[in-house]
Amino acid sequence: MKVPFNKPFFSGKELEYITQAVESGMISGNGAFTKKCQAFFEERFGFRKCLLTTSCTDALEMVAILMELHPGDEVIMPSYTFVSTANAFALRGVTVRFVDSRPDHPGIDETKVEELINPSTKAIVVVHYAGVACDMDSIMALAEKYDLLVAEDAAQAIDAYYNNKPLGGFGHFATFSFHETKNIISGEGGMLVINDERFIARAEIIWEKGTNRAAFHRGEVDKYNWVDLGSSFLPSELTAAFLLAQLEGMDHIQEVRRKHWKCYQNALSSLDLSGAQLPSIPPFASNNAHMFYLVCRTLEQRSALIAHLKANDCLAVFHYLSLHASPYFHQRHDGRSLPQSDRYSDCLVRLPLYYSFTENEQAKVIEAVQGFFNQ
Ligand SMILES: *Cc1c(COP(=O)(O)O)cnc(C)c1O
Repeated sequence: MKVPFNKPFFSGKELEYITQAVESGMISGNGAFTKKCQAFFEERFGFRKCLLTTSCTDALEMVAILMELHPGDEVIMPSYTFVSTANAFALRGVTVRFVDSRPDHPGIDETKVEELINPSTKAIVVVHYAGVACDMDSIMALAEKYDLLVAEDAAQAIDAYYNNKPLGGFGHFATFSFHETKNIISGEGGMLVINDERFIARAEIIWEKGTNRAAFHRGEVDKYNWVDLGSSFLPSELTAAFLLAQLEGMDHIQEVRRKHWKCYQNALSSLDLSGAQLPSIPPFASNNAHMFYLVCRTLEQRSALIAHLKANDCLAVFHYLSLHASPYFHQRHDGRSLPQSDRYSDCLVRLPLYYSFTENEQAKVIEAVQGFFNQ
């Protein structure tokens, strides 16, 4: 038996809903399933306006367009994140200023943001790594003080909270992912959240290829036209149908993931990890069990652990490489060292965790980790 890192899963009604979409005779975007998914998030989490997208990457690109950023403008974000967080802004010619991670968590170090703010700064993008909230009170206070826009890259943060308020509900914008590696999936898929009323009308236009087609379908205008910039950001109804089935199973999916997460924590917290650390969750953050990781003492220890797990048929994987040091960006970086980001790049390793994870599979991973640290 080999234990993969991730396994996509059905929660129940996916195929039934896809069949319904096909039989309805309408499988392009912005149909009944899309509207149901969007309404789910608006009602359940109180997000002002939601638009499904084909990916979180696309949602981030919509944010960069909506912020009306120009070359010379600056956006602040963590270096320890997925490429898309930064690429969306780099595509618009914006200067990205990378911030280090917290020593206790890979999320943005909120105490290192203010020193980067200058008259060219337009926005802060936070990433709720592993579904664990950033310190949103500090971030929103800075945004208010300097009149900045805030976007939350909440790709991993569905059903996750900061002081009991849902992530994705703080920033002017938030983006989610339903890529098959996330808690709730649709293969590829994402969503843009617009919490600030001022941006809603334009977001719909950008979403519909720069046209006012959404307003046309509501009967608000008598023809639709090219009215602004945009692209093809909306997913088909097949994707939305799959997603709706997952959303209906969300509470169950989350409960199962949390059980797997706690099982790891219980089994590993009594182990002498010779300097490696288990995930730490700040008191203001909830745990949506998106990920279980270890932060090893050194790169060598991590490589040895991954190799040991692989030899025991368990696939554990490292994660991001600091974007400030990447081949594309390092010559554009302002030279500041970001030691925590580099530490997570070198030392963080993610253990298998997925909805259909069996007791036997998890026991095998735990035994292999224990075997490594006890040897
Ligand atoms: C997964 C992820 C993305 C990209 O999501 P896609 O839907 O694959 O485009 C962006 N940011 C973060 C933090 C992610 O984890």
